[in-house]
Amino acid sequence: MPSDLTISRSAPLLPLDRIAASMGIGEHLLEPYGKAAAKISLDAIGELDDEPRGRYVVVTAITPTPLGEGKTTTTVGLGQAFGVLGRRGVVAIRQPSMGPTFGIKGGAAGGGYSQVTPMEALNLHLTGDMHAVTAAHNLLAAMVGNHIHQGNQLGLDPHAITWGRVLDVNDRELRNLVTGLGGRTDGTPRQSGFDITAASEVMAVLALSSSLQDLRECIGRIVVGYTREGEPVTAEMLRAAGAMTVILSEAIKPNLMQTVEQTPVLVHCGPFGNIAHGNSSIVADRIGIRGADYLVTEAGFGADMGAERFFNIKCRTSGLVPDAAVIVATVRALKAHSGKYRIVAGRPLPDDLFEENPDDVRIGAANLRKQIANVRLHGVTPVVALNAFPTDHASERQAILDVAAEEGVRAAVSTHYADGGKGAVPLAEAVADACEEPSQFRFLYDDDLSLTDKIDTIARQVYGADGIDVLPAAARALETYEKAGFGRLPVCIAKTHLSLSADPALKGAPTGWRLPVREVRASAGAGFVYPICGDMRTMPALSKTPAAEQIDIDEHGQIVGLR
Ligand code: ADP
Ligand code: MG
Repeated sequence: MPSDLTISRSAPLLPLDRIAASMGIGEHLLEPYGKAAAKISLDAIGELDDEPRGRYVVVTAITPTPLGEGKTTTTVGLGQAFGVLGRRGVVAIRQPSMGPTFGIKGGAAGGGYSQVTPMEALNLHLTGDMHAVTAAHNLLAAMVGNHIHQGNQLGLDPHAITWGRVLDVNDRELRNLVTGLGGRTDGTPRQSGFDITAASEVMAVLALSSSLQDLRECIGRIVVGYTREGEPVTAEMLRAAGAMTVILSEAIKPNLMQTVEQTPVLVHCGPFGNIAHGNSSIVADRIGIRGADYLVTEAGFGADMGAERFFNIKCRTSGLVPDAAVIVATVRALKAHSGKYRIVAGRPLPDDLFEENPDDVRIGAANLRKQIANVRLHGVTPVVALNAFPTDHASERQAILDVAAEEGVRAAVSTHYADGGKGAVPLAEAVADACEEPSQFRFLYDDDLSLTDKIDTIARQVYGADGIDVLPAAARALETYEKAGFGRLPVCIAKTHLSLSADPALKGAPTGWRLPVREVRASAGAGFVYPICGDMRTMPALSKTPAAEQIDIDEHGQIVGLR
């Protein structure tokens, strides 16, 4: 097969006003950014309000290997397949971060004949939203430092400042550092650090806000640190929220692009999948759902992570109700869930992974069964998408289809990577069927359950834990947050995405374990509390041979080596 970049370059681009028109979005609502993308004015939300609401389909997955099992690719392929069936499919995805694009994972435009195009534009800068988030976040950091320098009227405790800086680069050397070195005019020295831009609370806020005014209010609630008495100090108190919102006033508009088959794609926001909710924006979905028969959106990582947050955080905030959830499964990942194969990012796959072994697939399918249950916990109808790889054996695919049948779930083998939208037609038909089942959608927990009980509910019911062990520091934080009035917020549990448990080495559907809650932090602006369960890196690093080494400009000025 040709490279992703070659496929992307040879796809004919339709003018974006025609893509928009297919969603009922008039030219007056478009703000073109070259040929690759256009921003959509938020006025579209009001203007499309009378249009019928399309079906809302979330794409999630089994617990993935570090390589990813093809959620983005399947999201794109499914959107294209609805087009093949003569229905209006619209795709909504997150904007890729440039950190991983130049690091191990590469870009996130989908792959093969199910891609968002042009992939260079998608993976690099796009319309500058990432940079705007970086700038808004760092303005607040500068205003925190300046406030202390100018006399610290609010009494911020320099040892209790939680707001660092962000950058969209994988750079381990920025994780821990001392800022403010130099003389008296150079600030107050204190230990600080950088996160990757995707991990910024500003990104999480942007994705969850419903309008510019709402964004302004949420930013105002961001907590930057505490006084010596433990009182939170917010962006509003520092009088930073207005300027930050101004920096984000373009970034809040979703970006319209297209697939290699000219299906409309809304690309918007890219919140981290572990310490944040890992879903694209609410405004994009609100626009997309009025311009589609089927709006297909991706939720990061496995169904225990991205989909759980999609249901309990994103849908709780937006009020939108999902009609079906696609669970992407691959032969290779379910085999790995048998526990007999080790897949490590940046290393070649083990040879024996490719030998025919349906029994291992069946053993590993314990993970698929649990993720199916996790979708059903929320009253949503699951559909299994078997993302086909050329290395699959027929017996192994059959093992997955058998498991789906045993669980009473619709399933389809999908070849959209090799065949584009037509390869996902059986999947689209299964999804369309599933959407006709009456929605029983429900949140996993009520707002008024205590934070501790919310964590316990997710741990037991979604992760399959026997319970939670809250360390003393975490217990103190939970008490503080309940007192500060954050008790009604949903929780976003930060744990490894490589296991249903908090230990990335435990495969399948582990039982007989407890979730350790080490630390708890609040994203008061974004509106969730996040317990940290395991070692979380919020600033990734580059590998021994980062993708950046392959990326270059050729003699014609064309980008090469992007994947
Ligand atoms: P996710 O969104 O779940 O992380 P992606 O859709 O980004 O996964 O896919 C991860 C990687 O695997 C991408 O490089 C993609 O091109 C590749 N990939 C996905 N599906 C297939 C497939 N069926 N055959 C070959 N490669 C695939
Ligand atoms: Mg993805």
